[in-house]
Amino acid sequence: AKEGGPGQVRLFEPVMLYARQLRREMASDLRRAVERNEFRLAYQPVVDIVTGKMQGVEVLLRWEHPTQGLVMPDIFIPLAEESGAILGIGRWVLRSALEQLAQWRNSGQDQDGFHIRVNVSPSELESMDLVDYVRAVLRETGAVPRDLVLEITESAFVGSGDVETYSMKALKALGVRLEIDDFGTGYSSISYLRRLPVDTVKVDRALIADIGRDKGQLEFVDAVHHLIQAAGMEAVFEGIETPEQAELLQDMGCCNGQGYYFSRPLTAEQVGTLLASGSRL
Ligand code: C2E
Ligand code: CA
Ligand code: CA
Ligand code: CA
Repeated sequence: AKEGGPGQVRLFEPVMLYARQLRREMASDLRRAVERNEFRLAYQPVVDIVTGKMQGVEVLLRWEHPTQGLVMPDIFIPLAEESGAILGIGRWVLRSALEQLAQWRNSGQDQDGFHIRVNVSPSELESMDLVDYVRAVLRETGAVPRDLVLEITESAFVGSGDVETYSMKALKALGVRLEIDDFGTGYSSISYLRRLPVDTVKVDRALIADIGRDKGQLEFVDAVHHLIQAAGMEAVFEGIETPEQAELLQDMGCCNGQGYYFSRPLTAEQVGTLLASGSRL
């Protein structure tokens, strides 16, 4: 506010105050949002980039706030992490996702190996009872453990302690698959890649944004792909928005991907329809 003209000073501070006030109100609303049934799940297909066939879906949380309308997770997930509300929310997401998977399965379409990916925040991984909860919900919903992939952001691994390591190993022992999310952002360290009990690595969309324009970036992404394979893991590319990006990744001999080019996040009904009609995108 110091640098701005006189008009800006007057505008800036009320906006900041308002934003802070809004955050505080939202944080308190979040605590009741599960019981008030205000959360919805969206499902974004993850496809085999070569065949375009849907392999699974990533579950993405939406909040229908009573007065603010639809609130996106980039706004409320950080608030939920700060306040600890994320633990209850995460449980709701996991249970709802596996119940939905059972519903698709029971409606009887061919969906061999169809999987569901759930985002798990660092504080959930840190909490002592995540493993017990996952085990219980798998049992209650009759889900095949392999069909659940837990996406854990890269930052959770950096400086991860005993509880996180214990949780990851115990989840692996259950048969659940683990994925490093947002790879290539934040405080990347490649040394952990070979150490972690992880199956797949999701490369952050920032890395592929320019591969159509920037030859050097394309070579870099190719090298990242090889690095992931050398670590014995499978790569997944997110944020594929153009046919050109999809083609360049195909030429690389790649793998699974997701992005608006293939499909936006869908409703449960839309995924059901897609499954019933052969999962082609
Ligand atoms: P993320 O895990 O990296 O998820 C991908 C985000 O990118 C989603 O945003 C998705 O809608 C968006 N996206 C998908 N394809 C494209 C594309 O082609 N281009 C672009 N520009 N964006 C694309 P969304 O749903 O707003 O979620 C944002 C973040 O919120 C997620 O990032 C994830 O970190 C977090 N999140 C969402 N649901 C949950 C949840 O249930 N639990 C936790 N802990 N975090 C969640
Ligand atoms: Ca994710
Ligand atoms: Ca990401
Ligand atoms: Ca993320």
